[in-house]
Amino acid sequence: MTQCPNKERNLEFCTCTYDCNRRGLCCDCVAYHRDKGEIPGCFFTKSGEASWDRSPRKFCQDRV
Ligand code: SF4
Repeated sequence: MTQCPNKERNLEFCTCTYDCNRRGLCCDCVAYHRDKGEIPGCFFTKSGEASWDRSPRKFCQDRV
């Protein structure tokens, strides 16, 4: 896993509630979800994030 000098600061703003070893490692998080055609949890509303569905479809439902 990546060593990131910003991890502690990133964790202060991470809104993801999924138990994941990428939390605070935003580059890894974005790359992981991008490769799956998904969107990281912090882009969703609180309730949308809680669904743990990171699909673009869910994102549109969440944000419209
Ligand atoms: S959005 Fe995905 S990769 Fe990022 S911390 Fe949450 S579960 Fe992990």
